[in-house]
Amino acid sequence: MYQISRAIYRELVPYLDDSAHPTGADVPTSHRQLLRSCEAVVERLARDPYCFADPTRTLFWDIRAHFPMSAQQRVHQVVSLYMEIARRFVSEHPLEGYAELAGEAPPCRATTRKGTSCRRAPLPHNGYCTSHQHLADTENRELAAA
Ligand SMILES: [Zn+2]
Repeated sequence: MYQISRAIYRELVPYLDDSAHPTGADVPTSHRQLLRSCEAVVERLARDPYCFADPTRTLFWDIRAHFPMSAQQRVHQVVSLYMEIARRFVSEHPLEGYAELAGEAPPCRATTRKGTSCRRAPLPHNGYCTSHQHLADTENRELAAA
């Protein structure tokens, strides 16, 4: 997953508007913020592949202020291209993306009656364990209604 955030970062760095930053500093703040934003979105997508509705919009709004007007369109293209790759990756490997970032397999997404998270192993296609499958149906109905 981090290959993806690194790739977005590398692709966008040349467009950064650095005029506002003093030269000579090792890494301008805008570079660090850009990398952090890219990582945050990719991480959220990996941790929550089922509920992150619009990562392109989230990332673009997060970083667009760092870029000059003339680069906005290009930045949006790059973001949506890589978010598409990231989405495809997590939808094909929903559990692996999480495992790579967290260093452990993801637990089921449900909360037990005691209020703790369910620790059973989830199924890849919806992130719930076999006992909590019905929650995925509820979720789909809610999403369809929204
Ligand atoms: Zn469960």
